[in-house]
Parts: sequence; C-alpha cells; structure tokens
Amino acid sequence: MKPASFDYHRPQTLEAALGLLARYGDRAKPIAGGQSLGPMLNMRLARPEHLVDLNDLVELDFVRMSEGVLEIGAMTRHQRVATAPEVRRTHPLLAAAAATIGHYAIRQRGTLGGSLVHADPAAQMPLIAVLGGAKIMVRGLAGQREINAVDFFRSVMTVDVGYGEMVTSVRFPQLPANSGWGFELFSRRRGDFAIVSVAVTLLLDSDGRLASLEMACGGVGSVPFRLDVSAVAEVGAMPSGKWIAGVSNFAAQSISPEDSASIPAAFRREVAAALVEKALATALARARGEKA
Ligand SMILES: Cc1cc2nc3c(=O)[nH]c(=O)nc-3n(C[C@H](O)[C@H](O)[C@H](O)COP(=O)(O)OP(=O)(O)OC[C@H]3O[C@@H](n4cnc5c(N)ncnc54)[C@H](O)[C@@H]3O)c2cc1C
Repeated sequence: MKPASFDYHRPQTLEAALGLLARYGDRAKPIAGGQSLGPMLNMRLARPEHLVDLNDLVELDFVRMSEGVLEIGAMTRHQRVATAPEVRRTHPLLAAAAATIGHYAIRQRGTLGGSLVHADPAAQMPLIAVLGGAKIMVRGLAGQREINAVDFFRSVMTVDVGYGEMVTSVRFPQLPANSGWGFELFSRRRGDFAIVSVAVTLLLDSDGRLASLEMACGGVGSVPFRLDVSAVAEVGAMPSGKWIAGVSNFAAQSISPEDSASIPAAFRREVAAALVEKALATALARARGEKA
C-alpha cells in the first residue's frame, strides 16, 4: 500500500523542527529512521498531514560521556550505539542489546529516539532504559523536560511526549566498571522482535556475595518493567546454581503475561524463566571476571 498524502518538511535545525511540530500540532509527525513509521504510513495506520524529517539534525547524532553519564542523541543510529567505543566501554549492556535489534540494514537506519517513542513492548532500547534508570530528554518550544524512563513509557506505543515535542537525547548512567550484566532475548527467527527479553545487572562484594541486583523484562506486558526479586535475592547472598534457579523461578512467577493469538501466556512465562536463568549466569560470570 501507499501512504495517504502528506506535506514533507526537512528542517535544518532543531529550532526549525520544533517550530514545525508546534505549528502543526496533532497533524504532524516527526520521522527519524522510518523503520517503524514507514510501514505504519504505508498501511495507513498513521496518516499525518505533515511529516517532519529529522535526518538533517546532525546535532542530535552524538555519543558523549560526562561525569558518569552516557548521553546519546535521539538521531543516533542503533548501529552506532552497538559499536561506539564509548558505549562499549561505559555501558556494554546497552551496546550488546543494540546489536540484536533487527538486521544490519535496520540498525543502520533506526534511531534511539525513534525506538523509544515507537515504544514496542518487546523493543531492546526501552528495556535497557528502564533497567538502568535512564533519563529521556524531551524538548518543545517552551523548554526541556527530563523524564525518568519508568515514567516515560505509558502503554503499548504510548509515551510521555506531547504534540510539538521531540525526544532530543537519552542519559544512561554508566555501568560500574565491575558490574556483571546479561542480556537475553527469545524470538522466532534471528532479527525478529523478541517474544520475551530480559536484562540483568549485578554487583558482587569483595567476598563474592551479592551487593546489588537489577532485572527488567520486556515482551510480557504493555511496557518493559523492572522485576523486584529482592525477596529471594538478598544482599549478602552467595550466588550459586541453586540460587540462580530460585531467582529465575521467582521472577517467572512474578510476571503476568497474557495469552495472545499465537503465544500462550504459559509459554512466555516458561521462556522468561529460562532467559532470567541464562542472563543471571552470564552476569555472574562477568562479575567474577570469568569468560561469559
Ligand atoms: C524488519 C524489522 C525488524 C525490526 N526488529 C526490531 C527489533 O528486533 N527490536 C527493536 O527494538 N526494533 C526493531 N525494529 C524497529 C526499529 O528498531 C526501528 O528503528 C525503531 O522502532 C524506530 O526507530 P526509527 O528511527 O526508525 O523511527 P521512525 O520509524 O522514524 O519513527 C517511529 C516513531 O517515533 C517518532 N519519532 C521518531 N523520532 C522521534 C523523536 N526524536 N522525537 C519524537 N518522536 C520521534 C515517529 O514520529 C514515530 O511515531 C524492526 C524494524 C523492522 C522493519
């Protein structure tokens, strides 16, 4: 199918883009990589009268590290997030997750900002943003807002960005150097959206006991969410194979997947348990300095 007709705008500055979005309000949509909006236009699921192309806004394509915070511009492509040395050094979990998005061609076009605003419940970037306590910078002509990732995602494909506003960058707190991390997803075919995804970060103390554990899950609700496993993963616990199995079972029991047309809830729960187990084992190996 072809999109419904629209007026095409290609602003050269952020101010000009914000001016267009403010002027046309709910009749306008920004387009970034077009990897999600393109199909929606073609299927006429989105019918903006004005399309504001962000691809000349080079000021939104950056990776910058300052005082423990990794800030990435909204127009930064997934492939750059996956491969930039600063990201791999300061937030290897983010780089690893970005490397699993779709296929190479999609990663070359799709952007961090587009992925967050599209807000597919199974998408990688929203999951890592929620897990790591990222802050999402949103700009309109009236000024800038800084939104915690957990508050940004409202529901399936619904986020806290108003008409006339744009995501300009995302601030990810750096992972502590001795963090263990694990990222796992299950999809039907390589490059497909995940059915379930899990991300884990943890720290061990000098005796190898658990100092902290964060876990988040995607694909099992309307938005990615953090899992509270503190009841079975107390600080000071000595992680073992039995401990991993206990935490994984607890995590799987604490989620509430729903039956969908092709995937029963029980299957998602089973997959979640297996992914948590794998992600935890990998994170522990990394925290212990073993080969993951
Ligand atoms: C075959 C295929 C497989 C894919 N697999 C995966 C996958 O495994 N995991 C995954 O996460 N994604 C996957 N994607 C989606 C891909 O990651 C997209 O890049 C992403 O969802 C949207 O980014 P985009 O830059 O292309 O945004 P666009 O498609 O241009 O826009 C998406 C939405 O965001 C809005 N938008 C874009 N930028 C901004 C901004 N800066 N501020 C405000 N609003 C903005 C647009 O108006 C639109 O509503 C896949 C896509 C395809 C086609």
